[in-house]
Amino acid sequence: MAAPAFDEAKPVEVRGLVKRYGRLIAVDGVDLTVERGDVYGFLGPNGAGKTTTLRMLLGLIRRDGGSIRLFGRDPADPLHALAGVAGFIEEPRLYPYLSGRANLQLLAALDRGRAGRAQVDEVLELVELRERAGDRVSQYSQGMRQRLGLASCLIRRPSLLLLDEPANGVDPGGIRFLRALLRRLSDEGMTILLSSHLLAEVQEVCNRVAVINNGRVVKEGALADLVAAGGHAYRLQATNLPSAADALRPLEGVQELRREDDELVFTLGSGDDTVEVTRALAAAGVGISALVREQATLEDLFFRLTGAAAPAGDREAVAA
Ligand code: ATP
Repeated sequence: MAAPAFDEAKPVEVRGLVKRYGRLIAVDGVDLTVERGDVYGFLGPNGAGKTTTLRMLLGLIRRDGGSIRLFGRDPADPLHALAGVAGFIEEPRLYPYLSGRANLQLLAALDRGRAGRAQVDEVLELVELRERAGDRVSQYSQGMRQRLGLASCLIRRPSLLLLDEPANGVDPGGIRFLRALLRRLSDEGMTILLSSHLLAEVQEVCNRVAVINNGRVVKEGALADLVAAGGHAYRLQATNLPSAADALRPLEGVQELRREDDELVFTLGSGDDTVEVTRALAAAGVGISALVREQATLEDLFFRLTGAAAPAGDREAVAA
């Protein structure tokens, strides 16, 4: 049997998407293209417009401009648009007084009964909730609720999964589990679009990313290309860090100079080398005990693109 026409289209095509709240333009001309098999990371600081974009993708709020196509269909068309698409925003909607299993059975029944008992068991197994499936959802931890939320998406066997901050409130073990699950779903052919603040996690699971800031996409592309174009990060241990910072700050290639514990960390563009750096330090009378080169991370790129403040405690601004 021939696949339906929309199935041949791209999972997500967004062009010039706009959403206004009064005078605030929350989403300001966003373009996104997600190809089949992508695990696509949608990144941005608080208030950047990620959730608002995902709400429009799921047809939960109306857009003020632009177009959205999910497998070639407009999510504003309530009848067919979300065929093959599942996801949740912020927190999954679940019945707290029912068990995890009952929640899934209810959803399966609503979904024209296509999912049977075996499939409920299968998704419970997949999200590792089988042992607790009989407990009321009100007794679940936040991480367990997130996993049941995922199960409630997976029971519909979607081709496209849209997730808003799926690792919110999940502990490190849960994040590792989520990472493995997303990889497995992707290996099985599912396309995934997820928003996240957890840059290291995104770097682990996503093949493409879009970085959004103030409602606009400021960077989009294959993760490997973006990270490679980000140049290198350097860690410097030296005799006098304040003097070293003063010597490095005026150098053109040096970016994102900051202090982390007893080191200075900075990035150098791919065309720049360290000769200028060591000369400047020597001229300032700074003794170098170590200068180590690392590939710049997605986090480095994120802070550069969004100008977002680094998390307190994690990074200290270099004193002026
Ligand atoms: P976070 O990471 O904090 O969830 P986000 O990138 O998901 O942020 P959005 O929730 O999409 O950001 O918000 C984008 C902007 O739109 C913010 O300035 C927010 O205050 C505003 N906004 C979102 N929803 C509404 C609403 N219902 N009414 C008015 N303003 C809103």
